[in-house]
Amino acid sequence: MKAKNSSFPPPGKSLTDLFSRSISYLRLSLTDRCNLRCIYCVTEDESSGSLTKLKHEELLTYEELLHVVRVAVNMGITKVRLTGGEPLVRRGVLDFIRDMMRIEGLDDVRITTNGVLLAGCAQELLDAGVSKVNISLDSLKAKRVQEITGIDCFDKVWQGIEKVLALGFSPVKVNMVAMRHINDDEILDFARLSQQLPLQMRFIEFMPIGASSRWDKDTYISTDEIMERVSALGELIPMQKGRADGPAKVFRLGADAPGSLGFISPLSHHFCDRCNRLRLTSAGSLRSCLLHDEEVDLRSILRNQPTDEAIQAAMIEAIRNKPRGHQLTERMKQSGSDCHGRMSRIGG
Ligand code: SAM
Repeated sequence: MKAKNSSFPPPGKSLTDLFSRSISYLRLSLTDRCNLRCIYCVTEDESSGSLTKLKHEELLTYEELLHVVRVAVNMGITKVRLTGGEPLVRRGVLDFIRDMMRIEGLDDVRITTNGVLLAGCAQELLDAGVSKVNISLDSLKAKRVQEITGIDCFDKVWQGIEKVLALGFSPVKVNMVAMRHINDDEILDFARLSQQLPLQMRFIEFMPIGASSRWDKDTYISTDEIMERVSALGELIPMQKGRADGPAKVFRLGADAPGSLGFISPLSHHFCDRCNRLRLTSAGSLRSCLLHDEEVDLRSILRNQPTDEAIQAAMIEAIRNKPRGHQLTERMKQSGSDCHGRMSRIGG
């Protein structure tokens, strides 16, 4: 495949899309398998049974993934996040990470995990050079975590959080998908955690994406409402955004808090104009927008024509297709439709 326009992207080691956004961040969904069945991620059938999984041969091999990352870094990607499904359930993931960390020019590799297996491998992750972690946790109550995830796992996740803090991971971010009548009564408890521990507590708006059959307007809570509720606890002091903060608006809850609060508003306040991301789904497709279903089938390219040039051309095509912004809110108003990609394949 050839790039359609040789002047795109501009020459030099920087990937820029058609709207002048610099693309430097690649999210890799390593697998669609997961050890949890979160209500917002799976269908109702799957919550009580097994996930509709990709066949093993449909996943990219580690060799293929390393090839893609090598080419991507050469094109200007500097940051990679491993996600899934649950990245830590894929066999051999630590060896893969060690191999990836050897890629010259790649200095920032992070992981997003549900935390269940984290305590057992945190030291190895750190030794491999991964010291930045996002952990998903939607409740501080063990029974409720079980209701949301389908598994009794709160203690394990909490052990994982304690372990990475003890080992000095930084930042340690905790992602909470806020859902009215499900966990919104814990918003203040989560916020208070940032006053006790060096965690970035992140409140994420519930998105109507993929298999989730639970999304509706009543369950959704905007981050504006969350911020209003949290501000009852004290002053929200805006923090200077780090390169690592991504789309979150970050605050400290009182001057002495060791941690911070992040508010992520994919629906109420688009951050598309600042989006620097490209995603590789666990099915091996390049996806330039979380909430836009258009994808480039990189797996076929890797299996038929695994050259650097072909991978590069696929990446350029995906970035060319990156929309100026997602239209999900408008589409929902018109037709109530959601976006059809599956979170377990896209990786958030
Ligand atoms: N298994 C890992 C984990 O739990 O963090 C990585 C994959 S998970 C799909 C990545 C992130 O997407 C999690 O923080 C999860 O809470 C979030 N997520 C999944 N479905 C969502 C939805 N419908 N709305 C908002 N966030 C969602």
